[in-house]
Amino acid sequence: MAKIKMTTPLVEMDGDEMTRILWKSIKDELLIPFIDLNTEYYDLGLEYRNETDDQVTIDASNATKKYKVAVKCATITPNAARMTEYNLKEMWKSPNGTIRAILDGTVFRAPIIVKGIEPLVKNWKKPIVIARHAYGDVYKNVEIKVPGAGKAELVFTGEDGSIMKETIHEFKGSGIIQGIHNVDKSIESFARSCFNYALDQKKDLWFATKDTISKKYDHNFKDIFQDIYDKEYDAKFKELGIEYFYTLIDDAVARVMKSEGGYIWACKNYDGDVMSDMVATAFGSLAMMTSVLVSPEGYYEYEAAHGTVQRHYYKYLKGETTSTNSVATIFAWTGALRKRGELDNNSELVHFADLLEKACIDTIEDGEMTKDLAIITTIENPKVLDSFEFIKAIRTRLEKYLQN
Ligand code: NAP
Ligand code: MG
Repeated sequence: MAKIKMTTPLVEMDGDEMTRILWKSIKDELLIPFIDLNTEYYDLGLEYRNETDDQVTIDASNATKKYKVAVKCATITPNAARMTEYNLKEMWKSPNGTIRAILDGTVFRAPIIVKGIEPLVKNWKKPIVIARHAYGDVYKNVEIKVPGAGKAELVFTGEDGSIMKETIHEFKGSGIIQGIHNVDKSIESFARSCFNYALDQKKDLWFATKDTISKKYDHNFKDIFQDIYDKEYDAKFKELGIEYFYTLIDDAVARVMKSEGGYIWACKNYDGDVMSDMVATAFGSLAMMTSVLVSPEGYYEYEAAHGTVQRHYYKYLKGETTSTNSVATIFAWTGALRKRGELDNNSELVHFADLLEKACIDTIEDGEMTKDLAIITTIENPKVLDSFEFIKAIRTRLEKYLQN
């Protein structure tokens, strides 16, 4: 069988620990035998980040602007323990943070749904994709622990010296105050990333804030979304038959719980932090959660939502058997290959991505899975495979589908 051609490269960012081991195995077993894999390779493994003073992360991000599509392996975000383990020159920043800052993107997290791994919310039948605004609010706050009686004020001094002032509270005793902010530019980018991704996925977009209580701060989010929607997206949404739906955050939460899923839920920073953990847990497994960074300009970077699975890696180094789930990492690859195929009008590549995803899902639904899923599945007598047997089981099916 002739290998599938790729006219344009995509950006490949390698990573760390167990996911780096899976990365190679996925390429060797599931990609290179079938595709003339055309990637521009960047090694974001911690050793090479350290060697290049993290320049490689910046280079990989800029390459993503050039080629528009990237796939990334999970990477270590250094902490004190990693400083000694890897003998680091500096405690390098989180690669995901660096990439996001350069691409100005929003992260969308989507669960992979298979029969036999049932959501804890029984009416959820389709994925709920969460988009979290990743700038400002309580994550860039300033706080004061008020020691005793006094007056707290909110003051803005314009560049021209003009002053706006509000009293926050006249304290009679001790208490607390907090200052938070956001900027219109970031909210606008967030809104465009969400609208673009809804068009890309042909799914409804939900957004919610507490604008009835926060008549300026939260209302500003609501107004910016509505304004951009009306001016730039209304016609495109109508053409695809999808909807932009705004409601209050508490109403949104109630509706999400009663829904069957199948939409994108845009959240303010804190709501997204909290709700993404709830939704991920309710869908069953972190190992079945993918993540894509979408920039307002339409650059896409795909990855698994989980980390480098350090505990499994140490077992692997000792020569012990591991049963690490590679599905989210494989779906990062299929996401990137499908997007590459769509941008290049390469229908063969799009079709390959569909078949590889089907092979993953069918393997699990046939009862062959890694340990993390075997523990929670409703399928009787699942066959527990090790990390590499699982990838081979997917390959067996993929080969069969490609022959037909
Ligand atoms: P983790 O790698 O997500 O793993 C936490 C635990 O979740 C694992 O020990 C394992 O549980 C389970 N798990 C996660 N993915 C799995 C998979 N594919 N198959 C089976 N089980 C899986 O999180 P962590 O251990 O807290 O972080 C390790 C490193 O990853 C850190 O250095 C962190 O900086 C980095 N990280 C990177 C990213 C990223 O690049 N996007 C995201 C998060 C964390 P059991 O041990 O119980 O089997
Ligand atoms: Mg969280």
